Amino acid sequence: MKKLLPTSTAGSLPKPVWLAEPETLWSPWRLQGADLVEGKEDALRLALQEQQAANIDIISDGEQTRQHFVTTFIEHLSGVDFEQRETVKIRDRYDASVPTVVGAVARPKAVFVEAATFLRSQTQQPIKWALPGPMTMIDTLYDAHYKSREKLAWEFAKILNQEAKELEAAGVDIIQFDEPAFNVFFDEVNDWGIATLERAIEGLKCETAVHICYGYGIKANTDWKKTLGSEWRQYEESFPKLQQSKIDIISLECQNSHVPMDLIELIRGKKVMVGAIDVATNTIETAEEVAATLRKALRFVDADKLYPSTNCGMAPLPRHVARGKMQALSAGAALVRRELS
Ligand SMILES: [Zn+2]
Repeated sequence: MKKLLPTSTAGSLPKPVWLAEPETLWSPWRLQGADLVEGKEDALRLALQEQQAANIDIISDGEQTRQHFVTTFIEHLSGVDFEQRETVKIRDRYDASVPTVVGAVARPKAVFVEAATFLRSQTQQPIKWALPGPMTMIDTLYDAHYKSREKLAWEFAKILNQEAKELEAAGVDIIQFDEPAFNVFFDEVNDWGIATLERAIEGLKCETAVHICYGYGIKANTDWKKTLGSEWRQYEESFPKLQQSKIDIISLECQNSHVPMDLIELIRGKKVMVGAIDVATNTIETAEEVAATLRKALRFVDADKLYPSTNCGMAPLPRHVARGKMQALSAGAALVRRELS
């Protein structure tokens, strides 16, 4: 990126009310068949327009074509039975009814490439596409086949690599892997989590990112955050190995969180997407609040490597709130950009 402090969102944006029930995760579609296909394209146009109106520099799809950031990808794979459901604890935090891995997993055809091609055709701006990371995928499933989290993660990494290569060919500039599980399973992150992530990006020439957050602003997550104490040092566990990894960009939660900013020093040299917008509150940040967070981050990230972003996705927020937050992000970044130039 030539522009200093290019802004982007972590990924998801609210969907229009005619496409899916608002302010809900796993919200069912309100259209079907050909209407749904057309509705998703229209929603992509809207998400693009709203990001452009808010002066967001790196455009995302706002996850308009998927119900959920993990499940929708898995739905397109063979070897997973969505009828056979088991209750598991997601990220050691909350119970969810999840599908079962019943055989060898494979990707019979591309999942998001058509949608990415469409978004690419609508804008000249850089685009970023999010995929779930291998560890977060296995954490959202019951495995009755491999019976090994690590083995299944390596299989998913291969599949993600196939999808990522096709997204790159479709013109995606940054491919982001969402790995909130990296803030929970520290031993596994270091044993094989980062290694499987590197398998997922093998051979890619576009930029790659990993998004590690404390989750959407839903109750299970905000309750969990209350148990984490006054200093959140989870990033300390994964950062040293990530610094050594081939991942280009690391996307973090910093706004209103108890993450000590100096932890970013551990990934010195990487580009950092600094979350300067809290997605767990409907209160819209002021430009000055955003700028204050960015200034703090600048003590540990070189200005040409700082990418202002949101803490996490904004899918569960009211649309006007998400719009306001994107505008605040851009305005705050502009304040700091002026100071730097
Ligand atoms: Zn997130």
